[in-house]
Amino acid sequence: MKNKILLAKMTTYEVAEQLKESDIAVLCVGAIEQHGPALPLDTDTFNCYEVAKRACEVVADDVKPVLLPPIWTGFSWLHMDFPGTITLKENTLIDVIVQVCKSLIHHGFRKIVLLQGHGGNKGVVRSARYILKIETDAFVIDTRAGALAKTAGIEIPSKKEYHSGFGELSMYLYLGEDAKFDKRLKEIPEMPAPEYFDVFGREGSTGSVRASAGVPIRIKEWTNSGVWGDPTEASRESGEKLVNGMVEGLAIFLRRLKATPLEELIPSLKEKKFQF
Ligand SMILES: [Zn+2]
Repeated sequence: MKNKILLAKMTTYEVAEQLKESDIAVLCVGAIEQHGPALPLDTDTFNCYEVAKRACEVVADDVKPVLLPPIWTGFSWLHMDFPGTITLKENTLIDVIVQVCKSLIHHGFRKIVLLQGHGGNKGVVRSARYILKIETDAFVIDTRAGALAKTAGIEIPSKKEYHSGFGELSMYLYLGEDAKFDKRLKEIPEMPAPEYFDVFGREGSTGSVRASAGVPIRIKEWTNSGVWGDPTEASRESGEKLVNGMVEGLAIFLRRLKATPLEELIPSLKEKKFQF
């Protein structure tokens, strides 16, 4: 029988036992926000959690990580024009992440992976990670499964997109049951973006359109459908490749994390903590 991975489904005795062999925990930080006409509101949380669950299962018997229930609400104010979107304020979400992690640290977890399911949480997760760096002696790292796959040299399908496009729909077609191709997907213009992006410049290396100046956006200003990207070529097959690549990338990362001593991850481990 495989080692248990779902913290919420374990008993406190089982967690205590597992902590003797592993201090690794994985926490997905997702969102409930609009994803256009084809995808449900929980796409970010669901896709991220399903990838994390599969990766944790792969390494269940050697890394022995625990996977927490995902943080399902994110920082999604830019989608609030669309019904169903739920958002937390930045500081609230930072507090939630920090306090969940501090609870884990209190019990002895020392290597915590914050897996980002929603790009809009990036700044918030980074702030939480810094607070935890300053105030605790744990190694808290935030990452995305897609980035880990690329780092590991795993080829995964990708297209130029920003939100609810090819990647997310493909993954959901593979992982979920209720995604549908909506005829409105065909009306989506290709990557609409305001002209002022050209004034500030674009980051081209990742394939996504982002102003290097960090322009605040309210997504309704640019897309009526809620989709920004081209999901019309999404497929279950591409989703399977994406998911498998991400699972493999995350599994490799978790094994590396397990093999690396905490002292190496935190060179300043024995030094005094900052006090503010
Ligand atoms: Zn999304």
